[in-house]
Amino acid sequence: IAPANNLDAFWMPFTANRQFKSRPRLLVGAKDMHYRNAEGDEILDATAGLWCVNAGHSRPKIVEAVQKQIAELDYAPAFQMGHPKAFELAARVAAMMPGNLDRIFFTNSGSESVDTALKVAIAYHRARGEGTRTRLIGRERGYHGVGFGGISVGGIVKNRMFFGSLLNGVDHLPHTHDREKQAYSRGCPEWGAHLADELERIVTLHDASTIAAVIVEPVAGSTGVLMPPKGYLEKLRAICDKHGILLIFDEVITGFGRLGAPTATEYFGVTPDIVTMAKGLTNGVIPMGCVAFDSKIYDAFMDGPENVIELFHGYTYSGHPMAAAAGLATLDTYKEEGLFERAAELAPYWEEAVHALKGEPHVIDLRNLGLIGAIELESIPGKPTARAFDAFLKAYEKGLLIRTTGDIIALSPPLIISKAQIDQVFETLRGVLRAVD
Ligand code: PMP
Repeated sequence: IAPANNLDAFWMPFTANRQFKSRPRLLVGAKDMHYRNAEGDEILDATAGLWCVNAGHSRPKIVEAVQKQIAELDYAPAFQMGHPKAFELAARVAAMMPGNLDRIFFTNSGSESVDTALKVAIAYHRARGEGTRTRLIGRERGYHGVGFGGISVGGIVKNRMFFGSLLNGVDHLPHTHDREKQAYSRGCPEWGAHLADELERIVTLHDASTIAAVIVEPVAGSTGVLMPPKGYLEKLRAICDKHGILLIFDEVITGFGRLGAPTATEYFGVTPDIVTMAKGLTNGVIPMGCVAFDSKIYDAFMDGPENVIELFHGYTYSGHPMAAAAGLATLDTYKEEGLFERAAELAPYWEEAVHALKGEPHVIDLRNLGLIGAIELESIPGKPTARAFDAFLKAYEKGLLIRTTGDIIALSPPLIISKAQIDQVFETLRGVLRAVD
């Protein structure tokens, strides 16, 4: 057993240990756009932590709200009881959502939001006397967290296979990425909307009366930063409507301003029946997620032939006072600083900066939407993640934090980033690309 004072990867397998076989890189401070590491270096954060710190780090208003809350009310039971801030936050999130997505359920993470959404979808049909609708449809290259439901509908084949059959009755739509046809698209690619028609094939195969819901990320983040083809989400909506299937958008990444709108739902003008969120809800400060669902679902729970409102589903920490306080201060910060609008204003500048990397060594595709960017590198044969990881290390040495998934560099800075800092991100990356093997 390693000694306790040895900050070795041994102590946190799967997390800090990932890709670091020895000493983890330690972050000890953060302010606005920067992290500070154990060596005292300032690191420009081009990833908003893990796509979550949308308002920037350690913002005073959020810090104060959390400090005040812990002194005032540390915890309130989530059942039979409540506290005002959770209700206030639910009302604020509901007001942010388009359509009738005005019923809010609090979780503690994106994974829990996904599993909640899948259960809500099945419960909705059951409440309406359609208990045969239990099948779920995800998408290849989708990522929906690490719960059993999320892995089952998720599109990471290795994860599904490793854990066996997982949920029964899950199908996957094809992913929508074709590098040949979509390379260097600005924003959403023109090609690929027809891939939504695959949903019709699955419906024919199993019959609509067995299918509860389709879940997709509007922008697939963790599996490679893939933008939806133009018209694709609209088509999914139309096919779901035709067959009485619920549509779930997993907005854990796209929620809270990432695309320059409160949600991707609003950005694309396509309204699903259920939306999952987390990350930006509390600016990453306190773990919290939520599920917004259409009031028609809630009404079915209350008034349908099968009463499911009594079903047990909830977490000890649902609507936790600290998280609710952090969430309210976060939403205030977004609003007062106009950060969603700011992201929309910066998006064209960001797009130019991303695509200016065309022609740099190893670059085979560049993608952007809102304040999301992706730089796809040509893989070294037999080593599918090595080149991007090398870029990660070299960027970190130069004081820039990026994220990699496979050989794709994913960028998602806090929405407070300045134009000068955008320039700095891409100048550093240009140097890094020229330096990697
Ligand atoms: N869904 C999506 C789209 C995500 O990007 C993530 C996390 N990256 C999750 C779900 C899971 O969220 P968490 O890690 O908070 O459980």
